[in-house]
Amino acid sequence: MPQFDMIVIEPNAARDFETHTAGTPLREGGGDETYRCGGCKTKLLVNVDHHDAHGAIIKCGKCGKFNREPHHH
Ligand SMILES: [Zn+2]
Repeated sequence: MPQFDMIVIEPNAARDFETHTAGTPLREGGGDETYRCGGCKTKLLVNVDHHDAHGAIIKCGKCGKFNREPHHH
């Protein structure tokens, strides 16, 4: 199962973001890809389908950084 580090972006570049809560993934299940915060390596999306991560912008509940999907293929 592949694991990816997301890319940290500036807060003023974050639009329509979702907020992660520390201690539990924002989303879990449906696929085999795991996405970690680019700042603190907290797992934000666990075992999700690639489609579920596409375009995601997530505020990390642990370190407060904004992350975007790393656009891998
Ligand atoms: Zn973080």
